[in-house]
Formats: sequence, structure tokens, C-alpha cells
Amino acid sequence: MTKYIFVTGGVTSSLGKGIISASLAKLLQARGYRVTIQKFDPYINIDPGTLNPYEHGECYVTEDGAETDLDLGHYERFLNTPTSKANNITTGRIYQNVINKEREGAFLGKTVQVVPHITDEIKRNFRILGENGEYDIVITELGGTVGDIESLPYIEAVRQFRWETGSNNSLVIHLTLVPFLAAAGELKTKPTQHSVKMLLEYGIQPDILVCRTEHHLTNDIRKKIALFCNVNINAVIESIDAQSIYDVPLLMLKEQLDKTVLTKLKLPHKLEPDLENWKDFLGRLKNPTADVRIALVGKYVELPDAYKSITEAFIHAGAKQECKVRVEYIPSEQLTPENAVEKLKGMHGVLVAPGFGERGFEGKIQAIRHVRENNIPFFGICLGMQCAVVEFGRHVLGLENANSTEMNPDTPHPVIGMMEDQKTITHKGGTMRLGAYPCDIKKGTKAAAIYGKNHISERHRHRYEFNNDYLKQYEAAGLIPSGINPDNGLVEIVELKSHPFFVGSQFHPELKSTVANPHPLFINFVAASLAYARKK
Ligand code: GLN
Repeated sequence: MTKYIFVTGGVTSSLGKGIISASLAKLLQARGYRVTIQKFDPYINIDPGTLNPYEHGECYVTEDGAETDLDLGHYERFLNTPTSKANNITTGRIYQNVINKEREGAFLGKTVQVVPHITDEIKRNFRILGENGEYDIVITELGGTVGDIESLPYIEAVRQFRWETGSNNSLVIHLTLVPFLAAAGELKTKPTQHSVKMLLEYGIQPDILVCRTEHHLTNDIRKKIALFCNVNINAVIESIDAQSIYDVPLLMLKEQLDKTVLTKLKLPHKLEPDLENWKDFLGRLKNPTADVRIALVGKYVELPDAYKSITEAFIHAGAKQECKVRVEYIPSEQLTPENAVEKLKGMHGVLVAPGFGERGFEGKIQAIRHVRENNIPFFGICLGMQCAVVEFGRHVLGLENANSTEMNPDTPHPVIGMMEDQKTITHKGGTMRLGAYPCDIKKGTKAAAIYGKNHISERHRHRYEFNNDYLKQYEAAGLIPSGINPDNGLVEIVELKSHPFFVGSQFHPELKSTVANPHPLFINFVAASLAYARKK
């Protein structure tokens, strides 16, 4: 029977519920359990696909094409197993399902209410991933903070769920803050007490408290929290600020979070977790033998969370190469033809990020011209690849005012254009080319050497594509399509023959990079940047 763990948060947001959930899952997985993590977000959007990255950071795309919360990226990077649409549910989706059922007549004669209809639908969704026998343990992370109006139906659903499933089959982990008051020189437990009290008011006694803190919890503090919050002292878990998110599983292991969880769920924990590969990764991450500076040119660089998967993919690839990758964020709108060279000075590689809209577009074109002409390693992802195609069209093929029709619908040379089937779409949510698509790699290309295979599958999130009317011209001039979608002939990878590393991918390789499987495109881009740095 599947066991369920709920992770709630108190006191403030940003305590790292996603990382704690992923770390616990990692430990349980390393003990041989089959684990998945799902995230329930209390906002009313159906999914985060239509949110500006400034609101919630990056939108993470799953294999099955769901646009989801960035925490799902952490789950995949830690566990090395794919998530799906079922792993991220929002209030919007819950209400949509209930309202659809109401229209179908499923509740005929009844008043449809938050309790029981919305809470029933939440509980049904808690269970979906656990029902097919694929998982021993399902961890459910509840977004938001206990006490928020939006979170109430979820908390009530957890209360009911626990009542129905029995005490050994589910547990609640509550994440709280234990702040350090510099003036008093001590850690304070009151916010934790209050947030547990609030949970108790809603009928939930947390089983385990994970206390985020900047200083180690003393035994006295642990005792105090245990006494006032009705938990065992070994269920007071310290979560101290870590140097890297990838340290957290080991910190949780030290605190025996996994053991406490398994004991409470009445699951055996005889075998010690096998974390050899993880420790090996950490060893390489922390002992780099080289250093590279890579510019990340993008529109949302003020908020690093907007490019979470890219920065994590660099961490994985850097560890693989035993190389510290210093990612330097460069706002694209600050780049002009005049200052591009200056701004990119000292960079050993340039990544042009995915994005939407015109802001900063011309700056990216300048950056690409500079790196193409100066043999500096370049990697363009999605919009970044489209920029490379535009740049090459303008400056090498001499296609005056070549552009993407996203930036200029009236361009005389629409080298990037919208697919026919996209043109009739009016709804914005979930209508892009989304999720995993196959791609054939051309033999003898850089892409073939990098992937070491001829058929790959990568994840997409875009509306615009390379315009194949121009393909022959590009190929003849040396920007070759080294990856093609076998079903519709769309160009998925371009690369420049006569350049150490000039690669653009229409898909998002960063979404598939994990600790266990760093992405080959990132590994090779870092290697090329390293080679460039050494030559300098
Ligand atoms: N705006 C571009 C498109 O829709 C690129 C999207 C992206 O970079 N994810 O095709």
C-alpha cells in the first residue's frame, strides 16, 4: 500500500520546501523505495504557463508537455525520474474539474461547495499517483504558507485524508523558521510554536518539524520545540543554511529525517541509503580544478530563479568537468552594438537564454555576432537559437532585416516563423509546442559527437520555428541543421561548421539535466569554454 507524506510550510515562504521534499525523496530512493513528489499550488491559474517568470520563476516543462512549477525541476534533478502533468496541481485545475463535473450533471440536485466538493477533488488528486502501484511513497508538497486563505481547503483535505487513511499510512512534515535575533543573541522558537498552533486549530498535528535556521539548534531548543509542539525530540529536524542545495540530502541524513519518517510510517529501514554517486558528485562539485566564466544573456536575469534549470545544468556539467562554472547574468536590453564587446569581455562562453517578446532581442543579436566572429563558444537555447539564425541571416547571408515574425511580423525575411497550426490558436494557456519530441541527429556533426547517438528526444516550449524555405541557403553558408524532427522536418538543432562551439537548440536541454545524468550539450559547452579559457 502506498504511503503518503505531506509537506506544509509555516511562518514565511521561501524556506525551501521543494528542496526538503526532494532531499527526503532522494534518501528514501537511496534506500530502495520508489518515490515520487507532487506539488499542489494554491493559485487560481490552471498552470504557471501564463505567468511572468518574475512571479514564480521558471516554468518547468514535463515530458508529457505540462507547464509546471519550478520545484518539479528539483524533483527530477534529485531523483533522476521524470515527472508528469499529474505532479503539479493548482487550485485553478481543482476548481475547473469540479465545475466541469457540475456542468456534466455529476452533482445534480446538490449545492456544490468547498467542503466537500473541492476538498474531495483535492483528495482524489492526492491519490492519483499512488494508485497505479508504481510508488511506495508519494510526497505531496503544499505550496503557500499555513494560514493563507488560499491554502485552507488543502489543509482541510489533508486533515480528512489522514483521518481516512489511518495514522501509519501518512504523515505531515511541517517546515518552519527558527530565526536568530542578533540583538538577543539567540534562536527564537515562538514563530514555530505559533505556526504549529495554527495547524492544530485546523486539526492537524504535524509529526515532524523541519526547522530552517542559520545557527545549529541546541539540545535545549530542540527540547523546547518538542515540548511545545507535541513532537518527539528526534522529530525536530534542523535544516541549516547550506552552501549548495545538493548538500541538503546529506544534512537530512545526518538529522535522520529518513529514519524518523520510515519509523512513523512503519516501513523497514535496515539498509543504509546508497549515496555513493551523490557523494562523488558533491566531491567533484566542491573541488574544481578549473574555472570558467559563462555569460547568460537573457531578459529576466535580475531574478536568477527565472533560469533555474539552466543554472543547475551548469552545476551538473561543471561537476562532471571538475570545473567551477561562474555564470554571469547579462540583461540583454543593456547590450547594444556599441557595448556588446565590452560587456562580454573576459567571458569564456556565452549562452543566450530562452524567452519571449522583443525586449532585449537586438542586444542578443549583437552578442551572438561578437561570439561567432571571435570563435567564442556559443550556446543558444530556444529563443537563443532563433536569435542565432536571425544573426546569421543578417550578417552572413546578407538577408537585410531578417527577423523572427515574433519580433517583426512584416520582416522581408521571416527566417523564424510560426507553424501553420499555431496561427489559428487564440488561447494562450498550454497551446505552444510543448513537451518531448523526437529528433534525428545528422551523422558526422558536432551534435552527433556530443550525443553519441542518432535519435534523441528533448522537451520543447515555443510557438516559432526555423523557416525551412531558407534551409538550403543556411546550409550552403555553413550553419547546418544537425537535428531534425523526423515527423515534420522541423529544424531542432543548428550548428556552425567552422567554429569551435556554436550550437543552437530549438528545444530545452536544461530540463533534462540531472545530478545523475548531466546533459551532454552542457557538458560539451562547458568543455569548449574551458578550452577557450585555457587558450587565452
Ligand atoms: N519566443 C519563442 C517562441 O515562442 C521562443 C520561446 C522560448 O525561448 N522558450 O518560439
